[in-house]
Amino acid sequence: MLVYVNGKLVPREEAKVSVFDHGYLYGDGVFEGIRVYDGNVFRLREHIERLFESAHTIALKLAMTLEELMDATLQTIAANGKRDAYIRLVVSRGEGDLGIDPDKCKKGSTVVIIVDSIALYPEELYAKGIPIATSAIRRIPSECLDPRIKSLNYLNNILAKIDAKKAGVPEALMLNTRGFVAECTADNIFIVKNGSLKTPQLLHGALGGITRAAVLELAKGAGMITSEERLAVHDLYNADECFLTGTGAEVIPVIDIDGRQVGDGKPGPKTKMLLAMYRELRTKDGAKVDYDTEPATAR
Ligand code: PMP
Repeated sequence: MLVYVNGKLVPREEAKVSVFDHGYLYGDGVFEGIRVYDGNVFRLREHIERLFESAHTIALKLAMTLEELMDATLQTIAANGKRDAYIRLVVSRGEGDLGIDPDKCKKGSTVVIIVDSIALYPEELYAKGIPIATSAIRRIPSECLDPRIKSLNYLNNILAKIDAKKAGVPEALMLNTRGFVAECTADNIFIVKNGSLKTPQLLHGALGGITRAAVLELAKGAGMITSEERLAVHDLYNADECFLTGTGAEVIPVIDIDGRQVGDGKPGPKTKMLLAMYRELRTKDGAKVDYDTEPATAR
């Protein structure tokens, strides 16, 4: 495995960052999780744009342009020769001192690109659906930290994930401090009610998921009425269908929430349709990896 670290491709064992990096000391940084499907990097530009927006909001400057980071990502995938992979792109504030002051990180940001695989839900769960449970951990209010920033601070989500595992379910539903539905720990949430597709607005506490956006487009293209609105758990319990979206999960049906059966307890027709459409789109929409050209970033 070759890992991109600040412009160089190095073997996994040599892929290291300083313990003084503020990404490590304070979670001061941003990241992306991206998938490659048969040599197609799904919505690479959208992922890199989201990363740049997150970085801009936290006043983190990259020494690279958007195009350069896209190229570095494509070249790192090519150097690893993987046609199907999960990419983790991490940009941290860089090496500083022990204070939180980001201006002390004089060397500039640290950029890491890892090409690996990810543990996914087993295929049978796409046919069966999963149960989820509401966590007691509320999403950090968007007035305090904008949920659209995909930052290295995941403690809030990790605490909810611990709750979910204790409750014996694979995912936790997170509410905002006003008790409305935000998202899950690593996925956005959708419901289908009377043929319409509904998902919480981002400022209720949800990340602007790349999969979420793709699914909204696919649903509109299929003639469904879609809306981003304020949803309560009552709406979820009484939905006809429910599913989660994310780079790792894709479109996974939810058939039980807090012990309440959703719909008829089986993945619904719209969920199945959107999963099939997404699986069609994922190899087409995005940037193609050129596996034949020698990467410019190789040592
Ligand atoms: N919400 C959170 C908190 C996430 O971390 C993620 C990414 N795993 C998502 C939603 C889904 O976003 P995407 O579709 O871009 O992977």
